[in-house]
Amino acid sequence: MRRPLVIGNWKMNGSRHSSVELAKGVASRFDAIAQEVEAVVCPPDVFLADVALALGGSAVGLGAQNVSQFESGAYTGDVSASMLAELGCSYAIVGHSERRACYGETSSQVAAKFATAQRKGLAPILCVGETLADREANKTLAVIREQISAVVETVGLGALSSAIVAYEPVWAIGTGEVASPDQAQEVLAFIRTLLGEKADETRLIYGGSVSAENAAQLFEQEDIDGALVGGASLHAEQFMAICQMAEM
Ligand code: PEP
Repeated sequence: MRRPLVIGNWKMNGSRHSSVELAKGVASRFDAIAQEVEAVVCPPDVFLADVALALGGSAVGLGAQNVSQFESGAYTGDVSASMLAELGCSYAIVGHSERRACYGETSSQVAAKFATAQRKGLAPILCVGETLADREANKTLAVIREQISAVVETVGLGALSSAIVAYEPVWAIGTGEVASPDQAQEVLAFIRTLLGEKADETRLIYGGSVSAENAAQLFEQEDIDGALVGGASLHAEQFMAICQMAEM
């Protein structure tokens, strides 16, 4: 039985004050509405400590939007997995398409980040997804296979079962153009076939313009175990509405 998981990626938004208020808003609603679903928020690193405090004793988990592939040392600007764990993170997003596109992160760097995060006790949230050009050229599954294989070659298949894989078509992120439930299901079912023996244990989630309006239909799909939510996670009510739908 895979526990539904909804993750909020706050990206580079908000202030210290608004992050604390948002965390309090999420925490105060969550315990009342959602028992069977797991919720995680990923604020900007500089607000992690404040958000951890604001979440207090609530069941809402904490994650980072990125993590260094290195454990420590002369890597100016990087934040290590141990530092994130020390601040209370249990998860770290690796390979978000914005990092692949804006900072040229390669699949092998993403695999190294995955390995370091896991070694230091963080559950990696591995993002994979095709661009619109890939989809139009019928390359969606080939792109996904390459992105997953790079990680499997580094950490082995077994390591994937305790991680999260998020299918995030690049064309759906921040565009309002959500993948159809069939499109998302097709790719997530394919990802499950790549995960070997423990595939049934691995939580696979969808991300890309998920909102309170479209989440329920997505969650009806067999291989969609939750969502990675960007824009809608910046509003406590909307994020909670999505969490509630994941539970049903
Ligand atoms: C994301 O940042 O991973 C994301 C899916 O964003 P949005 O929900 O805004 O499309």
